[in-house]
Amino acid sequence: MVLVVSCWALIKGENHNYREAYDHYLPKGHYPFNSINFRNLAPACHECNSTYKLGKDPAHNHSGRRKAFYPYAPIAQPINIKVDLLHSDIAKLTLADINMEFGPTAVNEQIETWKDIYGIEERYKAKLCTESDGKAWLTQVLDEWKELGRDPQEFLKSLELNARKRPFTDCNFIKKPFLDACYRKGLFDEPTPANPGSV
Ligand SMILES: [Zn+2]
Repeated sequence: MVLVVSCWALIKGENHNYREAYDHYLPKGHYPFNSINFRNLAPACHECNSTYKLGKDPAHNHSGRRKAFYPYAPIAQPINIKVDLLHSDIAKLTLADINMEFGPTAVNEQIETWKDIYGIEERYKAKLCTESDGKAWLTQVLDEWKELGRDPQEFLKSLELNARKRPFTDCNFIKKPFLDACYRKGLFDEPTPANPGSV
């Protein structure tokens, strides 16, 4: 899949402008000898750089050394995300109602560092709760189902293909696990008189 850098193009999607900002991945204050190392300049969007990362050190935290992803690794590390929703009332979805698991476990320590320095989990969850993202993705499936007769399972199948081929487009990498979670919560079940549908 992709190289892990900052928010994974989350906030700006395809328009992530890498010329906008380069972050000193290992902060200059702790590693002055590295400030002239181009491989220590990681592309990062403004929000990642100026709101989240700041002077945080990917290689250490309060309890000592930690592993971190290397932004220029020759082979991109794939990351899997699994989303679970604690209830199916999407209109009332809050950050606390979302569980998110990141994998693979072989790089768990690096993932924890990545989440810590860029506030990844909180920002991904916030994205799922917003009207223009998570809720809009769900509405699209429901609209196509109800108005065009397109089966939600077909929708998920083509989304799976898209997410594999184009993870950044439309934030497919997070859209897919979110809609899978909606599916498991019964949001795409046939409406019955007792359950007149959701949203
Ligand atoms: Zn970013």
